[in-house]
Amino acid sequence: MLKINENYLKLKASYLFSDIAKRVSEYTSNNPDKDIIRLGIGDVTSPLPTACIEAFHKAVDEMAKEETFMGYGPEQGYSFLRDKIAEFDFNKRGVKISSDEIFISDGAKCDTGNIQEIFDTKIKIAIPDPVYPVYLDTNVMAGRTGENKDGRYQGIYYLESTEQNGFVPDIPSEDVDLIYLCFPNNPTGTTATKDQLKKWVDYAQDNNALILFDAAYESFIRDESLPHSIFEIEGADEVAIEFRSFSKNAGFTGTRCAYTVVPKKCRAFDNAGNKTALHPLWLRRQSTKFNGVSYPVQKAAEAVYSAQGQEEVKKLTNYYLRNAKLIIEKMTKLGFCCIGGDNSPYIWINGNRSSWEFFDLLLNNAGVVCTPGEGFGKCGEGYIRISAFNSYENVEKAMYRIGKVL
Ligand code: PLP
Repeated sequence: MLKINENYLKLKASYLFSDIAKRVSEYTSNNPDKDIIRLGIGDVTSPLPTACIEAFHKAVDEMAKEETFMGYGPEQGYSFLRDKIAEFDFNKRGVKISSDEIFISDGAKCDTGNIQEIFDTKIKIAIPDPVYPVYLDTNVMAGRTGENKDGRYQGIYYLESTEQNGFVPDIPSEDVDLIYLCFPNNPTGTTATKDQLKKWVDYAQDNNALILFDAAYESFIRDESLPHSIFEIEGADEVAIEFRSFSKNAGFTGTRCAYTVVPKKCRAFDNAGNKTALHPLWLRRQSTKFNGVSYPVQKAAEAVYSAQGQEEVKKLTNYYLRNAKLIIEKMTKLGFCCIGGDNSPYIWINGNRSSWEFFDLLLNNAGVVCTPGEGFGKCGEGYIRISAFNSYENVEKAMYRIGKVL
C-alpha cells in the first residue's frame, strides 16, 4: 500500500492567502460594482526596469541563432551574473564574498524552503513569530515538528517579535541549532542593527548553530547605519547562509531570479561532531535537483548591475517607499501605531482589535485588502500588514477610503 508523507497532514488546513482570496471573492460577488485596492499580498506592481527588458530581449534573440544559442547552463548560475553580485552586493560594501560562493536560483522562496534538506531531521529549529510561512511549513513537511496545537507546532522554538522587544526577537534562552531570521522583516517591516545581528552571530558561534538570513528586502534599506547583509558582521561567514532575490528590487516576481550565498567557511557538524562544510552539500543538492535559471533571465538580472539598472532599481524602490510613507502618515493620523515602512515596503499596524476583524472592516467598508497579522503567527494577532506595492494613486485612494470609515 502506497503511503503518503503524513507530515503534510499536520499543515494548517488552509494557507493564509487562500483564506484572503476567499473573502475577497465573496466581497466582489456581493458587490460587483465596487472596485478593490489590493495592499495585501507582497507582489510588485511596476514593470521590469528598461535595462533588464533590453537585456532580456537581446538574450532571447541570441537563443534564436545557432552561433549564440545556449543550452543547459551551469547549475550554480552563469559567472557573468555571479561576478556582478559578488562585486556590487558584497565587495563594494566591504564584504568578502566570492563569486563561487553564490548560487543563482529561481526564487528565494524555493531556496529558503529547500535549504533545510541539507540538515538532520532531528535538529532544534528556531523560527520567528510572526513569520514568512515558508520557513515553518517546509520544516513541518520534513517532519521536524509535532502536531499544530493552538496555532503552534510542537517542537519548534518560536522567536517572538512583540512590542516589548521592538519586533526584533530575543536570543533564545535554550539551545537551538538552526535559526531563521529575516531583515528587513516580512511581515513587520522592522530592521536589525549591526549590534543586534552580532548577538545572533555570537550565539551561533557559541552554540554550534547556524543562521539562515533572508534579506529579500535588502534593497529597501535607506538608513546608512543598517547592515545590508549578515556577512557585514565579522565571523558570520562561518555561521550563516544568506538569501537574496531580484523579486522586490527589480520586479522579478513573475520573471524569477534570486540567489543564495553559502560561504566556503560555513559549517555544520556530522554525526561524529566533525566540522563539515555546507557549500559542497548545497552544490550537490542543487546540481542533483536543479538545472539552473534560463539564460535570458540571468542576462536580465545582470542588467540590474549596469549603471542604468542601478538607477532604475533605486527609482522603483523609492517609489514603493514613498507609498509606504503615505500609509504611515495617514494611519498614524488616524491614531494607529505603525511599525516598519521606512526601510521596508511593509507596514505593521496595531489595529486594537482582532486581525481578521480589522481585515473584514477594511475590505467590507473601504474595499481595501490588507493581510491579517494572525496569518503570520500567534504574535501577529491584533495586527495587520499593509503592503506598499501598488501605484501611488491607488495608495492615496485606499488611504482616503480608510480615513472615511475609521
Ligand atoms: N523571502 C521573503 C521574506 C519574502 O517575503 C518573499 C516573497 O514574498 C520571498 C522570500 C520569496 O521571494 P522570491 O520571489 O525570490 O521567491
